[in-house]
Amino acid sequence: MTLKVLCTRLALAVVVPVVLVTATLYPIFRAHLDARLQGAQAGAQAMLEAGHESLQRGMNESLNHALATAEMPLLKRYLGQVGEAHSPYQADTRQLTAERLASLFDTLLTHYGRYTKLVLLDPQGRELLHVSHGQQRQQRSPAVTHADAEYFREAMTLFPRDLYVSPPGRNLRYENASDGVVPVVDIATPVFDARGERKGVLLLSLDWQYLTAGLRHAMAIVEDAQPLLVDAQGTWLLADTEGPMRFGRRFSAASPDAWEALSRRNRGQADLGDDLLLFQAADIRTQHYRSQAGMVHSLPDYHPWRLGIMLPKPSLGSLLSKDRAPLLIMSLLYGLSIAFSVFWALSSHRQAGLKREAQQHAREVRDLYEHAPCGYHSLDAEGRIVKMNRTELDWLGYRADEVIGKVHYQDFVTSETREAFEAAFQGVLGPDQEGSAECELLTRHGEKFPVVIQATAYTTHRGFVHSRAMVFDLSERKQLEDTLARQAMTDPLTGLGNRRYLQDQAAMEIARAKRSGEPLSLIAIDLDHFKYINDSYGHDVGDLVLQAFAKKVGKLLREGDVLCRMGGEEFAVLLPGTSKAQAMQVAERLRTALEASPVNVGGDVTVDGWLPYTASLGVTLVSAGETSLKPAIKRADQGLYAAKEQGRNRVHWQKT
Ligand code: GH3
Ligand code: MG
Ligand code: MG
Repeated sequence: MTLKVLCTRLALAVVVPVVLVTATLYPIFRAHLDARLQGAQAGAQAMLEAGHESLQRGMNESLNHALATAEMPLLKRYLGQVGEAHSPYQADTRQLTAERLASLFDTLLTHYGRYTKLVLLDPQGRELLHVSHGQQRQQRSPAVTHADAEYFREAMTLFPRDLYVSPPGRNLRYENASDGVVPVVDIATPVFDARGERKGVLLLSLDWQYLTAGLRHAMAIVEDAQPLLVDAQGTWLLADTEGPMRFGRRFSAASPDAWEALSRRNRGQADLGDDLLLFQAADIRTQHYRSQAGMVHSLPDYHPWRLGIMLPKPSLGSLLSKDRAPLLIMSLLYGLSIAFSVFWALSSHRQAGLKREAQQHAREVRDLYEHAPCGYHSLDAEGRIVKMNRTELDWLGYRADEVIGKVHYQDFVTSETREAFEAAFQGVLGPDQEGSAECELLTRHGEKFPVVIQATAYTTHRGFVHSRAMVFDLSERKQLEDTLARQAMTDPLTGLGNRRYLQDQAAMEIARAKRSGEPLSLIAIDLDHFKYINDSYGHDVGDLVLQAFAKKVGKLLREGDVLCRMGGEEFAVLLPGTSKAQAMQVAERLRTALEASPVNVGGDVTVDGWLPYTASLGVTLVSAGETSLKPAIKRADQGLYAAKEQGRNRVHWQKT
C-alpha cells in the first residue's frame, strides 16, 4: 500500500513538473519560433527580390550586349564588305575589319566573362566570325553551319533590334569553356548592314552557370535557404552540377508539392510541411530594357520562369540544434523541477510515515497515560483539575467530564490529610516547583483511598502553567503496614495483645483517664504451678492451657478492657473506668471462673480428659499522677507475688 502510494507520488512528481514547465515554455518557444519564422520570411522575401533583380540585370545586360554588338558600325561595315567583289585590296580590307571586329568581340568576352562565344553568321548560317571565351580568336570557319539551329532560323525571321533567347530548359547545350563544360543559353539577333539589308545573325552564347552563380550569390542571405529557378515546364534551371537537383532535371517530378504550388500562381508562398516556399514569376521576355530592344522571342511554353526560395521552417528541433543554450536551460529547468518534485514527493512521503509513527506514538503515550498503574493529574494554579487519567478517575469513581475543569482536587482530599496536600501544592507553586504528600482521597462511594502524590510544576517563560502529579496507591502498603503493626503487637499463641500492645493502649487509656478523671485499674495474672503442668503433661498441653485461659478470660471481660499476655504464663488486664472495688470483683470473678473451668486436654493426657488449673491475681490502680503503666505493673506484680506467697489461687490488692 505504502509502495503503491510512493510510486503514484513519484509518477506525479515527474509528470506534473514536465507539464508545468512545458506549459510555461511552450508559449515562449512558440513566440520565438513565430518571430524567427517572420524574420526568415522577411529575409527570404528580400532574397527573392534580390534574386529577381539579379536575374533581370544579368539577362538585361546580356540582351543589351547582343543588341549593342549587332549595332556596331564596324560590324555593319564588315557585313557590307563581305558582300563585295573579291579584289585583293578589298580582301585585305575585309580581313583587317574582321580582325578588328574579332578583337572587339574578344575584348567583350574577356571583359564580361559570362559569355562562352560570340558568332557572326551569314544568311545561310555559315560562320563569318567565331570568337570563343578564353581561346585564341578564331576567324570564320565556313565549314561549320548553324543553318539548322533554332536560334538561327528564329533570328532570321526577326526585325532589327529584336532578340531570340533559347529556353535553357530545352535542347540543353553544353559547351567547353575555360572552366570546364558549361550549359549555355543562346541569344541571337538579326544583323543588318549599313544599308539596312539583312546580313545574317549574331549569336551570343551565355554561360548559364555564370549567370545563375550570380543569382545564387544574390540569394545567399539567409542560411539554409535554397534558391530555385524552374521554367514553365518544371525543369530545374539553376546550373548546379551537384546535389539532387541539377541543371535540366525535372523539378516537377522531384518535388511535386512545390511544383504544384509554384505553377498555380505567379507570386506567393506555400507551406510544404517542414519547408516554406516563397516564389514569383520572372518573365525575361516582358521586362523593360534600358536599350532600344524590340521584341524578345523565345518558345512560349517555357516561360515564365519561376524564381523561388525554399527555407526550412523554424522548428523547436532546428532551434535547439543550432543553439545549445536553450536546450541547456530547458534540460536544467526540467531536471531541476523534476528533481525538486521528486525530492518533495519523497520527503512528503517520509513525513507522512513520520506523522503516522508520531500518531501511533501519541496513541501509545496517551494509552500509557490513561491506563498507567498510577494516577496522573494536572491542576491549575487554583488547584482546579485540568487533566486526570483514567486510572485515577477509576479510583475516585468519577467520569472525566464530571471533574475536568469543574472540581478542585482539594475536594477529593480528606480533611485529615488536606493540610499535607495543601503544603505540597504550595511547594509546587513556590520556587522549588515540586512537592509531595501522603494523603487520603475520598472516593465517590465515600471510601478512603490512601495515596502518595508527587507533583512538579510545568512552566514556560510566562510562568506557571499547571502542575503535573503522579499519584501512587498506598492501600496495599497501608494494609501491609497495619498487618505488620498488628503482628508486632500480637501474641501468636493466644491471639492476645502483647506487652507492647498493652503499653500502647495504656498510653491512650492513661490520657483518657486523666481527661475524664475516671479510675483505671490493672490486674496481673500468673498461672499456678504451670511449670508442673508442662513437666507433667508436656509443653503442648501447657500451650492448650494458655489458649483456654485467654479464651475464657476474654469472654469474662467487658468490651474496652484490655487483656494482654505479658510473657510465659503471665497476663495483665487493663480496666478503664474501673475502681478498686470493681477491679477486685472482676479479679475474683476471673479467679473463680478459671478454677471452675478445667481445660479439655483429651483422654490420653488425663484420666477424664480434663485438666484443672488455677491462677493468682494482683490488683492495683493506676495513680492519677502516673504517666506510664510501668509503676502500676510493678505494683500488680507485687500483689501477684503476695497472692502466691499466700498460697496461690487468690486475689491480692496492692495499694498504690
Ligand atoms: P508458680 O506457681 O510459682 O507460678 O510456679 P510456676 O511453675 O508456674 O512458675 P515458674 O515461673 O517457675 O514456671 C513457669 C513455667 O511456664 C516455666 C515455663 O516452662 C513455662 N512456660 C512459659 N511460657 C510457656 C509457654 O508458652 N508454653 C508452655 N507450655 N509453657 C510455658
Ligand atoms: Mg510465672
Ligand atoms: Mg506461675
